[in-house]
Amino acid sequence: MAHGDRRDRGDAVTASGDLNVVGAAALARVRDRGRPRSGAFQNEMDVIADGAVAIRDGLIVAVGTSEEVLAEWDDPAVARLDAAGCTVLPGLVECHSHPLFGGERHEEYADRLGGASLAEVAARGGGIWSSVVATRTTSDDDLSARLDTAYQRILAGGVTTLEVKSGYGLTVDEELRELRLLEESRRLTPLELVITFLGAHVVPQDIASGNGDVSAGEAYTELIATEMLPAVVAQGIAQFHDVTVEDGLFTPAQARRLVHVGQAAELPARIHADAWRPSRGWATAAEVHAVSAEHLTYTPDEEIREVGVSESVAVLLPVAELIYMTDRRANARLFIENDVPVAIATDYCSSIHATSLLQTMSLAAPWFRMTPAEVVVGATLNAAYSLNLAHRCGSLDVGKRGDLIVLNCPHPNEMFLAPGAPLLSGVVIGGKQFPNQEKTEESV
Ligand SMILES: [Zn+2]
Repeated sequence: MAHGDRRDRGDAVTASGDLNVVGAAALARVRDRGRPRSGAFQNEMDVIADGAVAIRDGLIVAVGTSEEVLAEWDDPAVARLDAAGCTVLPGLVECHSHPLFGGERHEEYADRLGGASLAEVAARGGGIWSSVVATRTTSDDDLSARLDTAYQRILAGGVTTLEVKSGYGLTVDEELRELRLLEESRRLTPLELVITFLGAHVVPQDIASGNGDVSAGEAYTELIATEMLPAVVAQGIAQFHDVTVEDGLFTPAQARRLVHVGQAAELPARIHADAWRPSRGWATAAEVHAVSAEHLTYTPDEEIREVGVSESVAVLLPVAELIYMTDRRANARLFIENDVPVAIATDYCSSIHATSLLQTMSLAAPWFRMTPAEVVVGATLNAAYSLNLAHRCGSLDVGKRGDLIVLNCPHPNEMFLAPGAPLLSGVVIGGKQFPNQEKTEESV
């Protein structure tokens, strides 16, 4: 079947959900022991030589050496994926993306590379606000077409579960439209989508700040708390609620208020924290029991030590730091020393078009001085915990969905020496194999 036929959640090569993956030179199992991996425990990915996985009805039924697995599950009627010479990893879990946006921002990046400051870029009409303006005037069909392309590229980067945020609408109607389009986009892709409401992304420039005694940030916080969040809850699509804590955008007090409104409606919180300056974002995330805090570029070392062990996952975004040209990096080593689980994500958004989590992982290791095992755990099990999905994905354990990727290299460490190399040779979601090539013009 041509790839261009209208897909029903993607063209599976094998459609039954029954599969034996055998003979992997290295199979990184990343065993789930009931909590995210942190501290020294994050530095283990449980590699099995000559590894195999048996999947039935979409779920993993056995993991071990090929001999162990085939002794019980060999079946000539079941499709077999020969992974000789290859690495098998759990399907990657991308836990931070903003794929729904209109407009282009490449000129502002070129300007910044040419020496323009953020203030100068904003004065020329750039920044997140420019994407909000463009997204509001982009049709549903055009936004959906962009999502379709993004999902194909993200799948081709080894991802099997993907978190997607709203946040380029910033009015009640526009945020509801974005969440509806994200929900409808599930039919475009075999990826499992996790949908997050991000009303508190930035403060919209067109917010009416009332009588002048109230700041725009306070007026917008009031709108989210009293109108937008109730409407989002009534719509019933959003699975998480993301709030920015950043000097000049939303204060810890405003974030606390919004998180509590969401939590009262059973929407767990994620926090965009300290991306541009120290803003008490990490401490706020830990205090409100957010599932995650993301960016953390400028979180001071003293704040990491003060918070100590936290149930919030620290989601670090190396490509964002690279493209934003920040003069600091998130202190991954100190988070790990303090027994905080660390995850790695791309931050695909209107200003960062990094779709490959595999490539982001190979950058993350030297960028943050993380080991290959720490990064693999960060892009699988810890990311799954940050999405409250560890019961379904993030490791190769019996009972989880049969999501895995096959890399054409003999050990997971090898991919860290090969940023950008086309190592991905197979993606399996729920036991079904998917082609990993982006749809080309000729095949449409
Ligand atoms: Zn973000």
